[in-house]
Amino acid sequence: MGDPKGFLTIPRSDPRRLPIAERVATWREFYSPSPEGELRAQGARCMDCGVPFCQGDTGCPVQNLIPEWNDLVHRGRWREALDALHATNNFPELTGRLCPAPCESACVLGVVDRPVAIRSIEQAVADRGFAEGWIAPRPPSRETGWRVAVVGSGPAGLAAAQQLRRAGHAVTVFERDARPGGLLRHGIPDFKLEKSVLDRRLAQLEAEGVRFATGVDVGVDLHGDALRRDHDAVLLAGGAPVARELAVPGRALAGVHLAMDFLSQQNRRVAGDPASPEVAIDARGKRVVVIGGGDTGSDCVGTCHRQGASEVTQLELLPQPPAERHASTPWPLWPMQLRTSHAHEEGGRRDWRVATTELVGRDGRVTALRATRVGGDPVEPLEIPCDLVLLAMGFTGPRREGLLGQLGVALDARAAVATDAAHATSVPGVFAAGDVRRGASLLVCNIRERRDAAVAGEVHLRRRAAWRGARAAGAA
Ligand SMILES: Cc1cc2nc3c(=O)[nH]c(=O)nc-3n(C[C@H](O)[C@H](O)[C@H](O)COP(=O)(O)OP(=O)(O)OC[C@H]3O[C@@H](n4cnc5c(N)ncnc54)[C@H](O)[C@@H]3O)c2cc1C
Ligand code: SF4
Repeated sequence: MGDPKGFLTIPRSDPRRLPIAERVATWREFYSPSPEGELRAQGARCMDCGVPFCQGDTGCPVQNLIPEWNDLVHRGRWREALDALHATNNFPELTGRLCPAPCESACVLGVVDRPVAIRSIEQAVADRGFAEGWIAPRPPSRETGWRVAVVGSGPAGLAAAQQLRRAGHAVTVFERDARPGGLLRHGIPDFKLEKSVLDRRLAQLEAEGVRFATGVDVGVDLHGDALRRDHDAVLLAGGAPVARELAVPGRALAGVHLAMDFLSQQNRRVAGDPASPEVAIDARGKRVVVIGGGDTGSDCVGTCHRQGASEVTQLELLPQPPAERHASTPWPLWPMQLRTSHAHEEGGRRDWRVATTELVGRDGRVTALRATRVGGDPVEPLEIPCDLVLLAMGFTGPRREGLLGQLGVALDARAAVATDAAHATSVPGVFAAGDVRRGASLLVCNIRERRDAAVAGEVHLRRRAAWRGARAAGAA
């Protein structure tokens, strides 16, 4: 701890955001990098409190060495801070932009003041690492000869692929889409994550020797049996893309779409990719209702603002959370409280306790949403005129047909792939990581999965080597 009084004398400051009018006019990220002096001062706010709850069970899922790199940043030792960050986290430039930062909710300083600005320091360290050229490929020093297939190139697949490749295995990442990245590429809008940030990390993986087989839908283009036959271990990391549906009259009307169809189309437009064959979804000049009050819904709201919607309403089934931390989630727990994202700051209206009962239309197109207020007595009917309805009510799990059926892996009660603590599925040599196993979750949790899954894969390969060795010795 370089400045023992830093937490008393230095107020928290965060990276500046572009004014709303400027940010909604582009698809670019809208935070300006903080000056070095400011970041070093923010690092000095860390109290090095002895028991760092920020990296404990209720804090950072990857157990980042937060007090260590806060101190190193304060001292201007950026390269060492980067090494400390990479010791636990393959992709800090992603978590620094996208993580909801449970570390900050668990920060001891947060009991009496605003917590340390951990996430923005993390992003600054990672971005500086790229800018200085410190983040270079780290290919393995020896090849093991083992072949590992990773199915899915989202954060879980990428992080596991990097770990396994660095251990010397020949790793192929299979991806159904034309470009790798999973939801980082096609779900998360560019204003939260510019894709150049993803591409520079992918370039590192490729230079380390990770092979990407894109445009290959495993289970369709390549049978699960062939995948197993050609590889010594298989890691399933295909995510949990099946969206929760809205079973109400009028669902089939034109103008009613799944959030992911809307978001992925926009990301493809920004990337200059060819238009997808399905119908184009555009909020320009439209009155939009987003059903679902979570992050995906918020990303739809931000995208609608940028497309030029005339009105945006976001509906949530649950009651409005309290403005401050609810008593049921005291420090250091992740707080139950109202969260206002940048997209909400940019405009639109939110409403709570709203259960959609019907979508009505004219000439086959949606014109209004009918709903009731949950828990209202007497029943309060609502009608919201609209031209576009986006369904962002979460995800129910992985696709069951295709690969999972071919492999015959067991599923758990939530219809996710069942694994033991070592990420092994019911099929020998087949492992699972990320949303395919956890159900829809967070980027940072899936980066965490890379360690466990990669370690489990390693153990499997060693056992297999020992078995082959014993068989060869018996035959001799
Ligand atoms: C709109 C949206 C916004 C989000 N925002 C945030 C955020 O701000 N912060 C955060 O922490 N988390 C966020 N998340 C959650 C986060 O993106 C996910 O938890 C994470 O991407 C899941 O990682 P994954 O590697 O398990 O799978 P995914 O990212 O879903 O990637 C799976 C990949 O596997 C491929 N695949 C599947 N099956 C096959 C097959 N058979 N053959 C070949 N390829 C296959 C898919 O095409 C896909 O590319 C968001 C999610 C969404 C939907
Ligand atoms: S990964 Fe998330 S929880 Fe961990 S230090 Fe970074 S912002 Fe905090």
